[in-house]
Amino acid sequence: MLNVAFIAHDRKKEELVNFVIAYEHVFADKKLYSTGTTGMRIMEQTKLQIHRFLSGPLGGDQQIGSLIAQNEMDLVIFLRDPLMAQPHEPDITALLRLCDVHGIPVATNVASAEILVRALDRGDFGWRELVEQHKPRVNK
Ligand code: PGA
Repeated sequence: MLNVAFIAHDRKKEELVNFVIAYEHVFADKKLYSTGTTGMRIMEQTKLQIHRFLSGPLGGDQQIGSLIAQNEMDLVIFLRDPLMAQPHEPDITALLRLCDVHGIPVATNVASAEILVRALDRGDFGWRELVEQHKPRVNK
């Protein structure tokens, strides 16, 4: 099963919730993860079940980052607030860097997210399932 992570900064949470509502049918059969508050907001307004990590500023980005580091995340939707400094900026940079290290599709705005999720719906993420099958099993 494909793994998807959701993160949204405070002024982007409503946009993400509306986006997830619109594509709920695509996410329904995926394994979903999020930072604390983002996941709570999505679950309040959809029927989706999400594994919630800590709130972003308290380490949630790093927890999601650790799954990315193990190449276990298949899609990251991270609606950043480009107009406000965040206390956990280093964690955000680290998470995006790890997406690049492992070549993980990541969207930081809703326009990109839309394109990726339509691709996800079409079955364009089959290559990620191959990655999963051929991954070296470290610490497992
Ligand atoms: P939150 O974390 O979902 O707990 O608000 C996201 C963030 O602000 O990094």
